[in-house]
Amino acid sequence: MTAEVKSAAPGGAAPGTNELALALERRIGKRSAAVIEKHLGITTVGGLLNYFPRRYMNRGELTPISEVPLDEEVTLLARVVSSSTRTMRARKGTLTDVVVTDDAGTLKVSFFNAYRAKAELLPGRRALFSGRISRYNGALGLTNPDYQLLDEDPDLAGEDPEKLAAMPIPVYPATAKLTSWSIHNVVKTLLDTADLAALPDPLPADVAAREKFLPVADSYRLIHTPETPADWQRARDRFRYQEALVLQSALARRRAQLAAEEATARRPAADGLLAAFDRQLPFTLTAGQSAVGKTLAAELARDSPMNRLLQGEVGSGKTIVALRAMLQVVDAGGQAALLAPTEVLAAQHFESIRRTLGPLSRDGLLGGFGADAVQVTLLTGSMPTAARKQAMLDAASGTAGIVIGTHALLSDNVSFYDLGLIVVDEQHRFGVEQRDVLRSKASKPPHLLVMTATPIPRTVAMTVFGDLETSVLDELPAGRAPITTHVVGLAEHPAWATRVWTRSREEVDAGHQVYVVCPKIGSDDDGDFSPGEAGPADTDLEDSGARELASVTGVVELLRDEPALAGVPVAPLHGRQDPVLKSETMASFTANQTKLLVSTTVIEVGVDVHNATLMVILDADRFGISQLHQLRGRVGRGGLPGTCLLVTTLEPGHPSRRRLDAVAATTDGFELSQEDLKLRREGDILGASQSGGRSTLKLLRVLEHEDVIARARQDAWTVVGGDPSLGSHPALAAAIDDYLNPEKEAFLERG
Ligand code: ADP
Ligand code: MG
Repeated sequence: MTAEVKSAAPGGAAPGTNELALALERRIGKRSAAVIEKHLGITTVGGLLNYFPRRYMNRGELTPISEVPLDEEVTLLARVVSSSTRTMRARKGTLTDVVVTDDAGTLKVSFFNAYRAKAELLPGRRALFSGRISRYNGALGLTNPDYQLLDEDPDLAGEDPEKLAAMPIPVYPATAKLTSWSIHNVVKTLLDTADLAALPDPLPADVAAREKFLPVADSYRLIHTPETPADWQRARDRFRYQEALVLQSALARRRAQLAAEEATARRPAADGLLAAFDRQLPFTLTAGQSAVGKTLAAELARDSPMNRLLQGEVGSGKTIVALRAMLQVVDAGGQAALLAPTEVLAAQHFESIRRTLGPLSRDGLLGGFGADAVQVTLLTGSMPTAARKQAMLDAASGTAGIVIGTHALLSDNVSFYDLGLIVVDEQHRFGVEQRDVLRSKASKPPHLLVMTATPIPRTVAMTVFGDLETSVLDELPAGRAPITTHVVGLAEHPAWATRVWTRSREEVDAGHQVYVVCPKIGSDDDGDFSPGEAGPADTDLEDSGARELASVTGVVELLRDEPALAGVPVAPLHGRQDPVLKSETMASFTANQTKLLVSTTVIEVGVDVHNATLMVILDADRFGISQLHQLRGRVGRGGLPGTCLLVTTLEPGHPSRRRLDAVAATTDGFELSQEDLKLRREGDILGASQSGGRSTLKLLRVLEHEDVIARARQDAWTVVGGDPSLGSHPALAAAIDDYLNPEKEAFLERG
């Protein structure tokens, strides 16, 4: 690399040392800089250079007017058909109506007192218009828009007409006050005044050569002022790759930093609890479970911390894998903590792990010390004070070998004697910071295993969990019965509303149990969605007022009078209940006393009742794809075939029913995750899972650019592998800092 960048010490450096971090006003003047800061919030040269056009218009083609979204800030290219000006009667002044066309339809553009528009927007002229299109009396209109005549740009005077027709017009994300072309003009000034030759290139030279990328300076020129579509495409490819490389390098660096830490090795014992546990296991591990088990065993035995993500379909048996790892750590004298996202799930894990361990577990009150059993302790925020204090004491003294809990485990007054392994279940509810808080509870960094059942496409895993090594359990244990899913459309088949309950009755009569899931708790609340969870797509929200959604309390009342369910024990379960009541309800359902459980999504993850065979999801269109997939994974567990009914009152053609159809069409979590990504805005996915205020991706689309991400990841691994501190890649290191901390203040030079 030829370009060299010195670090941008706040307030310190000499002129020209870091062009990207330079205050914008030093290049484009105070006035323009103030405008850009006010409307775009951008204060540095780098910020504006990296404010890329969102798309490019073809100078030779008019914008299809009927495809332009209403009530959004838009930029369109149209030709004037006619223009007329009249004096208004109701108020003083004139009204100029200009009719413009895209050759297919027309749009009425109205100006009040606009002498310039009257004089300039003559029939036949082409112009860019910027504003919000609205519909008035059935006709599309635009009022007092900003406009720019297309064929009179002084910069382009004398250009060859053919070349001009092919020249793309960059369209910037504009605001109501700042048009795309004003932004373009400021950027053009910046390209002339900035010291582009001094711009650092974050790409390693060999990578840039292999990919045949243009130098940074040329790329900035071409992405902002292309002469042909190929120009901006080449430039965009570079910056897209650069974005992927910076992101992957940030993750690789974090991973290298984590791996360089020193951990306590927890070597397997020849004849400890794990060996005893394997001997008493009532089934054989799947090939995947054994393979992942071997990997974990080896990594736990090392003196650098394991940082691993275990991905596996709902029901693939992740808990056993985690439990075996925990036993290895306990055998080696350490403690293990299992962090669950909800109290219900923590309690379930506690029960089922104790059950699975059988005589190998003891609880706090019984049994003495000894290597023949491990104390399993539950620690949640809602436990009675005395019990919680005892659990904390057991964690701190090391009496408890396995501590299971919710985020209560993260609180300051919880400490461990020797925490060797942290298992985080269902990661999508836990952020990086929470992982780090738990890590801080051990004197040396503990080993970490993150489990997630949310189907994640490969590239999202690479992007969101890129600092973790990944293992996948891709088969279900033998004897797992298939789940059949049906969409029950009440709009076209109103009679099916009762049919759902007769179907439930049949299950109960056959000795089985039923889950009924509702989007809301009561008739007057906003639901039981946990924060950060993927909710329904925005498009649905508009009709939420129009229909009354199924609620837990409402449905329980309804079922009391439902003849088909006469005599069937029904119980409600939701997040606002008293914790004691919640665990009693769950216990009664697990014991097959309650036959039909009406709940919110509290049962979404992890809950494991083998006898449940039917899941009815009411107003299923209110849930996201991965949520529905998680939910139905609660049935079909005990070798009994499962059925899931997605009940909806939406019309068959409604866009939100596509989600339901997708879920009904496949039980392949990875296929669903792709579908999910397509139907949702990407930012939501990364936004919900990425913590730490990272900027959202600009040019990279995790689905579309899988190969870019994969190549960049490879390169990032190579670079960081050979230079973990990035000492000889200063430009890349600076780009990573910028990426991780985008709000960093521009530095203003002194003097
Ligand atoms: P998930 O991956 O969704 O967390 P669990 O760990 O809850 O899945 O496992 C689901 C069920 O499958 C549990 O009841 C568990 O005991 C059972 N199970 C796990 N591994 C096997 C196996 N190898 N053979 C048979 N059943 C298994
Ligand atoms: Mg689980």
